[in-house]
Amino acid sequence: MLSLVDIHTFYGNIQALKGVSLEVKEGEIITLIGANGAGKTTTLMSISGIVPPRTGDVLFMGEAITRVNPDKIVSMGISQVPEGRRIFPYLTVLENLDMGAFLRDDKDGVKSDLDYVFSLFPILAERRNQAGGTLSGGEQQMLAISRALMARPRLLLLDEPSLGLAPLIVKQIFEIIKKINSENNTTIFLVEQNANLALKVAHRGYVMENGRITLSDAADRLLANEDVKKAYLGI
Ligand code: ATP
Repeated sequence: MLSLVDIHTFYGNIQALKGVSLEVKEGEIITLIGANGAGKTTTLMSISGIVPPRTGDVLFMGEAITRVNPDKIVSMGISQVPEGRRIFPYLTVLENLDMGAFLRDDKDGVKSDLDYVFSLFPILAERRNQAGGTLSGGEQQMLAISRALMARPRLLLLDEPSLGLAPLIVKQIFEIIKKINSENNTTIFLVEQNANLALKVAHRGYVMENGRITLSDAADRLLANEDVKKAYLGI
């Protein structure tokens, strides 16, 4: 579904990605793990077109999207849930969700997707008229995921969904991520610092260090890998 082929991404003179190649197959949950500053967010930004790679290619469903505008990339079927959630605090829950469907004109489909996200997160239905900024951190993460789903993505990019949330809320959110993948057939690319959690829900994983992929394997094999245990699992 998605291939990154030797991508190099820069912020001015600072090189964040130094030849990243990876693959995501339709229906998978893939996780990218790594330390602070390894380049995980930049990898997502390179896919969604927000920080396009300087060289290399990003292919989605066989088509190059390397320097395509972010809004076009959303309409092709890729949605990103940014780190820190970035919901619109002064808009209501419903208005935030409407923003997610901004590029769509199939009213019936939008209505059924709204019912779908409310079935995933009933608390959002209860709070539909409340300003986004008044929700708890966990509810804002639910809203950010739901807003991305309102674009009806084939590929959902999630950046650190566990960040700053209580363990019980994180558990709930990860259960829903698995559900979105299995019931809705949405492919998921999950960036996480909580490697233990991420590798437990993912099918496969990639490890990133200093802008390069250093390891890739089935998630259960990465969980059992001695180097991964030492560096990322605190075991
Ligand atoms: P974190 O888990 O802390 O978000 P990360 O693995 O997602 O880390 P990136 O945010 O992709 O890492 O950062 C990769 C490198 O690019 C880092 O060295 C970082 O300092 C640098 N970087 C990121 N954003 C910018 C920016 N806007 N301008 C300059 N350098 C940046």
